[in-house]
Amino acid sequence: MIVCETREELKSRIFNWKKENQTIGFAPTMGYLHAGHISLFETSKSKADKTVVSIFVNPTQFNDPEDYLKYPLDLDGDLKKCEEAGVDLVFLPKKETIYPDGNPDFVMFQSGLQKNLCGRTRPNHFEGVMLVVSKLFHLVNPDFAFFGRKDYQQFRIIEEMVRILDFPIQIVGVPTLREKDGLAMSSRNVRLTEKERENANLIPRMFTLAEKLFKNGEKNPKVFHEILADFLLSSSSVKIDYIETVDPHTLQEKLTLDGEVLLAVAVFFGKTRLIDNELLRNFDSENIF
Ligand code: AMP
Repeated sequence: MIVCETREELKSRIFNWKKENQTIGFAPTMGYLHAGHISLFETSKSKADKTVVSIFVNPTQFNDPEDYLKYPLDLDGDLKKCEEAGVDLVFLPKKETIYPDGNPDFVMFQSGLQKNLCGRTRPNHFEGVMLVVSKLFHLVNPDFAFFGRKDYQQFRIIEEMVRILDFPIQIVGVPTLREKDGLAMSSRNVRLTEKERENANLIPRMFTLAEKLFKNGEKNPKVFHEILADFLLSSSSVKIDYIETVDPHTLQEKLTLDGEVLLAVAVFFGKTRLIDNELLRNFDSENIF
């Protein structure tokens, strides 16, 4: 496995692979890797000849400086996991390698897809994500790029960015990997206390409740959100950042809950903010059988 820190080395490795007509799959990460990340790498290996992973905690996407400073790191463990997963190249840039002039005075913004969910409660977050992903796309020059559906809004925004800006890259959304009790795997889970970790399975349990409500025909978003919020707030350590029901393509609020609905939540357990989502489908409204 090749590990490189500089743009020059990365570019020359990629150049050589391209010369041999090898296709390149790319999974950008912020490290502290878990099985959810590994499933992106495995999907990449099944689609592309070479798999490139970047590990970079991107300062421009953090709206909370404490969250950035406390972001968990485990470089040795990460490299071992990449090696075991059969990754071909890990790009480990320094902050100065990505942003040689400091944080750029340049903003990417998609008003529609950023209006709701984390776009509303984490100002500047997706601007930073689009910036770093665009830069990494130019450096890695991949044929495919893999994003987890756990961060569904990020996945949709990148899909749209690539479409609008004509990046010649196929974006692939990878299903969310979960712990045994249903909690979505996340690098942030390590920050939960034992008690908070126990309570965090309120999120998958809330999804089960949501599925039941949806199947039983609850169409009023306000009533739906209230029932789900009451369920989450049964634990005193929970603070709800948002519970929203949106169209999975446009990410605009659903006025009535029918067809396809993306239920997305952001919840604080103590100081740790976790996000997750669930796609609700009214099969009667689709012609799938
Ligand atoms: P991060 O390191 O948190 O920035 O995540 C890097 C990539 O891994 C993103 O595309 C995430 O959506 C994806 N990812 C994170 N957690 C999971 C998970 N539990 N299942 C699938 N993909 C994930």
